[in-house]
This record gives sequence, structure tokens and C-alpha cells, in this order.
Amino acid sequence: MGKIILTGDRPTGKLHVGHYVGSLKRRVELQNSGDFDDIFIMIADAQALTDNADNPEKVRQNIMEVALDYLSCGLDPEKSTILIQSQIPELCELSFYYMNLVTVSRLQRNPTVKSEIQMRNFEASIPVGFFTYPISQAADITAFKATTVPVGEDQMPMLEQTKEIVRKFNYVYGDTLVEPEILLPDNAACLRLPGIDGKAKMSKSLGNCIYLSETEEEVKKKVMSMFTDPDHIRVDDPGKLEGNTVFTYLDAFCKEEHFERYLKDYSCLDELKAHYKRGGLGDVKVKRFLNAVLQEELEPIRARRKKWEKDISGVYEILKKGTERAREVAAYTLADVKAAMKINYFDTAEWLDEQVKKYSAK
Ligand code: ATP
Ligand code: MG
Repeated sequence: MGKIILTGDRPTGKLHVGHYVGSLKRRVELQNSGDFDDIFIMIADAQALTDNADNPEKVRQNIMEVALDYLSCGLDPEKSTILIQSQIPELCELSFYYMNLVTVSRLQRNPTVKSEIQMRNFEASIPVGFFTYPISQAADITAFKATTVPVGEDQMPMLEQTKEIVRKFNYVYGDTLVEPEILLPDNAACLRLPGIDGKAKMSKSLGNCIYLSETEEEVKKKVMSMFTDPDHIRVDDPGKLEGNTVFTYLDAFCKEEHFERYLKDYSCLDELKAHYKRGGLGDVKVKRFLNAVLQEELEPIRARRKKWEKDISGVYEILKKGTERAREVAAYTLADVKAAMKINYFDTAEWLDEQVKKYSAK
């Protein structure tokens, strides 16, 4: 069995540095490692519509934004297949059959869905499509027989749900689907990068993001406005690191070599942290350092984006070809699934033979 990656993003906005450290950066590394036989990167527009049904224009416009972000970060269409979810009807069919293997109460227990329902004030009127999106995610993952799903921590319950569906399907209908493994970032700060406002998660829906496509000035402005320790008022005051977003971002992005380049007074992050805790180190100095670190990471991404923005027809071709290829793969899996469920009446002579025998025996 090959090693296959499936992962993706909802086209509900441009991608941000949370996506980058939580999933995108890793994807590019895995792509270039040569360890994988196939890599599928999905723009999950159908899933985006589950909570944006009244705003299809937003989803439509953000498909190109996400594709540009992918290519800017170094996803290479020669090595990774980029696809658009809604153009692969096989995924809907798979979801429909998987729905029979999941209970309503199981979906209600999904902690990510629970908190997302709260965030969107859906409590009294949850769209059925949104409520069942963990099932459609299982369809996405299994359609490509993915073995590895590199995502952020918020996706853990989705992977659990997928595994349960795979086990149940294979138990009821015979070995057909592949059980995937989640691949989380190994750096704790990247599991769930907080927003610049200090809120638990940087998220397009919360408007607390630093976007990959923002200009140098925009990024700097956001970094300088970031949430730190509200009790650290004078430079001499001792500062807190817990919940201090600037330090969480440094944990996510900073390497030792950055001190050599941008902050020679310190040799490593631990030294900087110790000084901040002791008192005598101002927020502005730390923010300026973070800005330098971030700009270094974002600059090549911006440069590649400029290039791709001049070739939108080229990006269109990449999406179209990728989606066509992905559809072929999903169609194979769907055929396997329908054969396992014995609902492939016209694919072989078996069903007709059975029926003929049954009626001729009368
Ligand atoms: P939305 O608010 O529309 O759900 P989002 O910002 O949560 O958007 P998704 O498209 O749902 O983004 O998530 C795409 C991928 O990025 C997932 O693998 C998710 O785990 C990861 N991710 C999203 N936000 C973060 C974050 N703040 N830190 C780490 N990983 C993240
Ligand atoms: Mg999300």
C-alpha cells in the first residue's frame, strides 16, 4: 500500500500564518521529501458552503485566493494534485452512504463542531449540511485512500470520526477503505496558533489574522498591535509569557539564527524570555524582533505570489487538471465502495444472474 496525503482548506478567505504553521509549511516539506506516492490538496468549497450557503460569491472568489496561497507557499503541481471539492460528485455519493454508519448523537459529541456551532450562533438553527460535515470529510479522506492527513489540532475529532467510519464500513461490508493517520505539527505553538487579539485560534471567521498575502507594512502594523501581557505596563515591570501572543508566535517562527541577524544582544529565545519575565525588556523591542522574523518567512511567499498573479490562466489550468485527475481516483474508490455494498447492479453480471436464477426457480 502506498503512502498518500490528503489535506485541504476551506475557501472562506485568504490563508493566514495559522494555516501556514499548522499545516501548509508541513505539506510543502512532505511534498519535497519524496516519501509519498501521491499528494492531494483539496480546496473544500462544498464544505465552505455548509456555513456560507447565503454567500456563494465569497466561496467562489476565495478559490483563486487559496490556490494562489498554495502556489506561493511552494506547493508544486508537478508533485501535488490540487483539486476543487465541489467538482467531484463522487464525494457526495460517498458521504451519502457513510451517513448510514454514523449516529446523530455521535455527531453532537464532536467538540470541534460544538465550538464552531457556538461561534456561529447556530444553536437553534444548525444547517444539516454543517452538522454532518465531519462525514463529508471522511468521504474526502477515504476517496483518495489517504494514509496521512497533515492538519492542525482542531481537526483531531474529524480524523477520529473518519477512522470510526472506516472501521465500521470495513466491518460491515468487508475490507475496502484505508484508515488514515493524523499528522500534527511537532511544535506545540503551531498546533493552534492564537489570533493577534490573543483569542484561542487565529481564524478567518474571527478576523484576527495575519494573512500570507499581506504587504510588509500591513504585517508590521498588525505585529505592533498584537496582544501581549496587559499587566506589563512599564518596561521595568516583570512580564508574563503565558497567553502572551508575541511569545507564542516567536515559539512558532523563531530560530536561533534569527538572533544573530536581528537581535544580537541575545543568543536564544530562552534568554529573551528570561529577560522579559525578570522585567526591563519592553514589548516594542520584542515585537520589532518578531516582525523581522515574520517578514523573512513571508517575503519569498509574497514574491512567488506576485509571479503567479500574473498567470491566472495558468493557475486555472492547474486547478482543472488536478480536479480531473482527482475525480478519476475518487471514481475508483466509489466503484470499490459500491461493489462492497453490493449496489453495483450494472457493473457485473452477478445481480442479473442472481435474479434470473431466483425467478426461474419459482
Ligand atoms: P474557518 O474559520 O472558515 O473554518 P479556518 O481559519 O479555521 O477557517 P480552515 O480552512 O478551517 O481554516 O482550516 C484549514 C487548515 O488549517 C486545517 O488543517 C486547520 O487545522 C489549520 N488551521 C486553521 N487555523 C489554524 C491555527 N490558528 N493554527 C494552526 N492550524 C490552523
Ligand atoms: Mg476551520
